[in-house]
Amino acid sequence: MVKICCIGAGYVGGPTMAVIALKCPSIEVAVVDISVPRINAWNSDQLPIYEPGLDEVVKQCRGRNLFFSTDVEKHVCEADIVFVSVNTPTKTRGLGAGKAADLTYWESAARMIADVSKSDKIVVEKSTVPVKTAEAIEKILMHNSKGINFQILSNPEFLAEGTAIEDLFKPDRVLIGGRETPGGQKAIQALKDVYAHWVPEDRILTTNLWSAELSKLAANAFLAQRISSVNAMSALCEATGADVTQVSYAVGKDSRIGPKFLNASVGFGGSCFQKDILNLVYICECNGLPEVAEYWKQVIKINDYQKSRFVNRLVSSMFNTVANKKIAVLGFAFKKDTGDTRETPAIDVCKGLLGDKARLSIYDPQVTEDQIQRDLTMNKFDWDHPLHLQPMSPTTVKQVSVVWSAYEATKDAHGICILTEWDEFKTLDYQKIYDNMQKPAFIFDGRNIVDAEKLREIGFIVYSIGKPLDA
Ligand code: NAD
Repeated sequence: MVKICCIGAGYVGGPTMAVIALKCPSIEVAVVDISVPRINAWNSDQLPIYEPGLDEVVKQCRGRNLFFSTDVEKHVCEADIVFVSVNTPTKTRGLGAGKAADLTYWESAARMIADVSKSDKIVVEKSTVPVKTAEAIEKILMHNSKGINFQILSNPEFLAEGTAIEDLFKPDRVLIGGRETPGGQKAIQALKDVYAHWVPEDRILTTNLWSAELSKLAANAFLAQRISSVNAMSALCEATGADVTQVSYAVGKDSRIGPKFLNASVGFGGSCFQKDILNLVYICECNGLPEVAEYWKQVIKINDYQKSRFVNRLVSSMFNTVANKKIAVLGFAFKKDTGDTRETPAIDVCKGLLGDKARLSIYDPQVTEDQIQRDLTMNKFDWDHPLHLQPMSPTTVKQVSVVWSAYEATKDAHGICILTEWDEFKTLDYQKIYDNMQKPAFIFDGRNIVDAEKLREIGFIVYSIGKPLDA
């Protein structure tokens, strides 16, 4: 029986391994993590992450051929294939701070693999890492190998949170990069054999190591760039009377461009887009390509601009101040169908409103009060001004309440801002909400999900991104 171990039981390691276990009953899969609470949660009925369809997959395989454990060394030692899916955040200090990927977790995982291994292994980069990381990992493994043969593969993950299970069941592609040596090619084949249990052969792409590593950064940069492109257009739409939905539709009809990822919004978030672009920027700079670095930086600059533009529009519409006004914030996760708030635009929007002394009442169906309080008190690293860190004061945090329904959040509010596109926000009883709000009642739709015309008929003053403005 082939044995797989995955180091890192997070948003990627957990769902990807659960799907491998489901689709490959003949393979034993162990997902290991140094975090005891996380592993306990994976072994309970309350999984540590919310992802549609995940519960069912885990229930079917857990205890059969899927195991979650904190005994990292034992499972690594027994495995034939070791996936490494640890976090690779942006470095916050030292060389490359604010841009480069922090590979501390990766390096310690690699050293541990070298230490505990007693048999040959394929080590798979599942985390998103800078191009050429495999070379560094090879050095660590080879110099500590005690004669063991390690083959390194790059197999980046393209799932999107909120649709992870769907994406894993039917991936657009599975990408495997490896060395062009006989050993490297044999390792590629072994990993292909795993995916071949359910992924059609023409969707499994093989490349050299560096192409696979770089493709993941490139894919995230391209996706984020589309969002920043349409968001940049949304500002121009507001200035000219064009409607960004109509423009996106017309542009997306071009088969060379296509319709996906062209929705204007308050901005992108999530743990990956910004971090991976910053990483790309750093790699370009290190390779003497400042113009290319500058190009990708703009994607993040537009994203930051879009968030501050949204806050400015909100404050200026509400007679240039939100001091002591109650603002209902609907949605805090960075997108619908996830409880993940890493880099969510809601953090910057809420901080902006708190800066103007608003009182916030926040509701998100999957985000806890603890998460929100932590996110709003955490420092944000400003990569253009690395010394300029602004923690929130405890008094500011007192201006925030976290509630358990949209109706409670909006009661007596002066304004509403919608920051996550949860389906339930489309079907709220807006007449009831309007009746219970201060007047004039404002709605700022950061996801363009509500029917602005209907809301105007009720009496709301509505701001949608990239649309003609209310008189
Ligand atoms: P995560 O923070 O949810 O999970 C990482 C886990 O690794 C944590 O539980 C941590 O405790 C564990 N860990 C760290 N060091 C360890 C060690 N030495 N031994 C055992 N466990 C260790 O991160 P994630 O969102 O799952 O992302 C993992 C990687 O996948 C990142 O590189 C990310 O960029 C990439 N990625 C993420 C997504 C996404 O949507 N979240 C999608 C594609 C790729």
